[in-house]
Amino acid sequence: MTVIEKKYQTALNDLIAYLKNSKFLTDKYVEDALRKIPRHEFVPESELDNAYYNEPLQIMKNQTISQPGVVTRMTEWLDVKDGQKILEIGTGSGWQSAILSYLVGKGDVYSVERHPELVKFAQENLKKLKIDNVHVILCDGSLGYPQASPYDRIIITAACTEIPLPLLEQLRENGLIIAPVGDSSQSLVLLQKTSKGMLEIKRQSKYVFVPLVGKFTEK
Ligand code: SAM
Repeated sequence: MTVIEKKYQTALNDLIAYLKNSKFLTDKYVEDALRKIPRHEFVPESELDNAYYNEPLQIMKNQTISQPGVVTRMTEWLDVKDGQKILEIGTGSGWQSAILSYLVGKGDVYSVERHPELVKFAQENLKKLKIDNVHVILCDGSLGYPQASPYDRIIITAACTEIPLPLLEQLRENGLIIAPVGDSSQSLVLLQKTSKGMLEIKRQSKYVFVPLVGKFTEK
């Protein structure tokens, strides 16, 4: 192991210990994903030293790679299973997509992003790790991605005042959707689609995400 690799390994171990102590990380498979998908491969060079802090970091176009604790919590709530098909709204750096790709195994992750620069950044980051089951698409995620629907799971990684209707329509029955919902501060909300409508499974307040900007976010 090189000195650099050792430095990242120690920082990752410290981060995982912190996330476990603070109960942001409780699932063994999500821990495996965190160990297998190095966050330092998804941040700009200027942020390499900060890659394993439990902080969101600037990527480009004024957007962020989410905080590790938030990524592990959302991933755990989403309860991803091997072979599933997932839709992510807001690819950013591609780190969350890569974690989901590890957990779905032979399944697929469709991830949509509105900034072409970030689509390219995420695709390059995923290529470095030879991940080939994440499909990054340039489009307005508030409309979802109907071409590959229905999805077993949908994750929105940007704040919305309400969950855009097309995303609820593109979720499979019994599927789960997670999103930060609110204005200046958001609640993480986990919903299940049932034959009788959407059922709230979990909710937790005091999160702050960059906004979802798209057709279905305009009131
Ligand atoms: N999941 C990302 C990661 O692991 O790096 C972090 C996502 S960042 C917090 C939110 C992302 O949502 C930004 O990259 C932003 O450009 C994107 N976004 C905002 N509105 C969008 C929309 N309507 N369609 C697609 N992407 C959108």
